This record gives sequence, C-alpha cells and structure tokens, in this order.
Amino acid sequence: MKSLSRKALTIEPSQTLALFARAKNMKAEGIDVVSFTAGEPDFPTPAIIKDAGIKAIQENFTKYTPNPGIPELRKAIAEKLKKENQVAVEPSQILVSNGAKHSVFNALQAICNKGDEAIIPAPFWVSYPEMVKLVDAKPVLVKTTFANQFKMTAAQLKKAITKKTKLLIINSPSNPTGAVYTPEELAEIGKVVASAGIYVIADEIYEKVIFDGIRHFSLGSIKEIRDQVITVNGCSKAYSMTGWRIGFMAAKREIIKAAEDYQGQVTSNANSIAQRAALAAFTNNLDADLNSMVSEFDRRRRYLLGQFREIEGIDFVYPRGAFYLFFHAKSYLNKAFDGKRMKSSDDLCEYLLLEHQVAMVPGTGFGDRNWIRLSYACSMEDLQKGVERLKKGLARLG
Ligand code: PMP
Ligand code: GLU
Repeated sequence: MKSLSRKALTIEPSQTLALFARAKNMKAEGIDVVSFTAGEPDFPTPAIIKDAGIKAIQENFTKYTPNPGIPELRKAIAEKLKKENQVAVEPSQILVSNGAKHSVFNALQAICNKGDEAIIPAPFWVSYPEMVKLVDAKPVLVKTTFANQFKMTAAQLKKAITKKTKLLIINSPSNPTGAVYTPEELAEIGKVVASAGIYVIADEIYEKVIFDGIRHFSLGSIKEIRDQVITVNGCSKAYSMTGWRIGFMAAKREIIKAAEDYQGQVTSNANSIAQRAALAAFTNNLDADLNSMVSEFDRRRRYLLGQFREIEGIDFVYPRGAFYLFFHAKSYLNKAFDGKRMKSSDDLCEYLLLEHQVAMVPGTGFGDRNWIRLSYACSMEDLQKGVERLKKGLARLG
C-alpha cells in the first residue's frame, strides 16, 4: 500500500472537538456526564436570524453565490467593522468563509511561505499551531505568565521576532484563558508590529462576550498597521450560530484577493442560506438577545469564581471575556487515586471524567499540560452539579 500524507498523519486532532464528542457519546450511552467541554453558546440562534434562513430556503436562495460572499453581506460586515471596531475597510476587503476557523486558515494560506515563522502566545487556541504547520510554516510559541494573565507583552513579542517572522496570531478575548488585552497593551504590541513590518491575525471571535463593562479593542483600528492586520471574526459566538458556519476576514485587498483565489479553488462560497441568516444578524438590532446571553454567562462566571475562590490549592485566571475558566489544580497534581498518580492535567481530567463524570479539556492541547479549561457554556443546574463533582473528585485524591 502507498503511504498517506505525512502532513495529514502528523497533525494533532483537535482536542476541544475530541473531548466534546467523547462527553456527548458517553451521554448517548446513558452515562450522566456533566460536560464542561463545549466551546459554543448553549442558547438558540435568535429568531430573526432563523427566520432569514427559512426565508432564504423558501425563496430558493439555494445556489452558488459569488465566491467571496454575497455583496449585501460583505457590505454589512464592512459597515459593522467601521462602526463598532473603527476598522476602516471596504466591502471588497471582506472575505466570507465557512466559520472563523476557515478564515484563519485562509489568511495563513494567503500570507505564509515554507519556513516562515508565526508567533503564537501560549497558552493558545488548539488549532493555531496545527494550521500553521499545515501551510508549511513554523509555529513559534511564546510562553506567557500567569502573573500577566497569560497575555503576551510587547517586550516578549519583540524578543521573539526574527528575520523569518511573518506574522503574529493574537486572540482577545482569549480561548482558553478568558483574558482580554487592554487597548494600551494592544497599542504597545501594535508599535512592535509596525516596526517589524509583520502581519497579525487578530482573532476577535469572542468580541461580544465580554464582562465588567470593559471594551473590546481591535488592533486593525490602529492606523499605522492597518495594512498589516487581518481581522477575523464570525457569527458563531455572538449570535449562537456555531452550526451555520459563517466567519469572515477583513484585510487589505491584496491579501483578500489571494485568500479569495485560494477559497475559490478549495471550497467556493460559504453556504448561501447561512449567508442570508448572517446578513440578518449584522443588519438587525439584536442587542436584547446579546445582552441576555452575556448576562447569563456573567451570572455563571460569578458563581464559578465564588466556588473556585473557596477551593484550596487552585490558581485560576480571572476571566473577563469568552466563556471559559482556565485553572491550575496545583495542590492536586501529583496526588493519586487508586494508586494512579495525576502526573498532568490529562491524568486529572481522565480521572474526573471516569470516576466523577465531569468532562473538561486538559491544557495539553492549549500548550500547557498543567492547566485545565472549563467551559461554562452550559445550564446553571449543570454548572452547580459539575462543580460539586469536581470538588468531590479533588477531595478524594490523596
Ligand atoms: N477562534 C477561536 C479562538 C475559537 O475558539 C473558535 C472556536 N469556536 C474559532 C476561532 C472558530 O470559530 P468558528 O469556526 O465556529 O467561527
Ligand atoms: N472553538 C471551540 C472550542 O475551543 C469549538 C471547538 C473548536 O472548533 O475547536 O471549544
């Protein structure tokens, strides 16, 4: 038999997707698992968006669309970026794709050559390093510190830049930590980006899930670097539309043209019905839906923080955005259950899942084997039940 692709064989499977699926399968087998794995809002898509999708089907809007997206949607996204993010782009600078994940990959395809280096602050979202490897570039992981809520400083970025650096990938609010970069921190990072002349992929998918009255800031709004920034966002988190698969990138026309040509040969346009639904999301006032979703996430976040403050021997990042709590069960690692030592968060997560039926994603896939990601995109009832199980599980270790 001929061998398979080396590239495909060496790619790590997405740990977030794998654990989400594993918890779901266990539930389907009748096991009462509480799943803290999902990276998706547990709310229905707002009615106005669903209706637009239904109408698109009824009107037979079910054919190929222009490859980069329907003109009305590109226009609506450009207007959203100008108004909400102060990112000045024309509709021709927008490429609509099958989710923000696809947009990140298209952006990498458009700018990377073999051997280029991509700087990624660690911990990171699981898919960034693997996508960078898929375009034959090299992920350069910059270790950040808990003391700085795992945010990369401008000085750390500067130190990591070499002649081969092509880009930086930055994600705020962050998956997995929930940390949010301040406008001042991003301005400092922007100065380094300007002087090094590198590109930045700014993944802003959690832009709207943000707490404590703080404001999201877009790197692409900094005039000096606006031709270097590729802003990525989408409908999955803000409008609870994970299954519809609509994301977009905004960048200077030259980058969009390259990504558009690439998309045109690989997938063609994003789903026509979902594009109409996304158009409804961007052109209607959905503040009421958004506010009620975010305030429910906030209620859960506060509950979790209260609970975690009471658990001895745990460090956690105070989350200001997204719907994750990232924690280090430092006093429990190296303890044992039934003769088995918890050497890493993988062991701990496995133990908590099998013995206490609570599922979380170990930090290994995010670049830190000691930490664990808990997603609170689940009901308050499940959250309470799961936290009790987690506490009990930790207390049983000796
Ligand atoms: N970026 C980050 C940081 C994410 O957590 C995710 C996962 N939802 C995505 C991008 C991709 O989102 P989607 O493809 O659903 O738009
Ligand atoms: N982004 C979500 C997560 O981190 C969904 C899964 C994925 O696409 O990785 O859990």
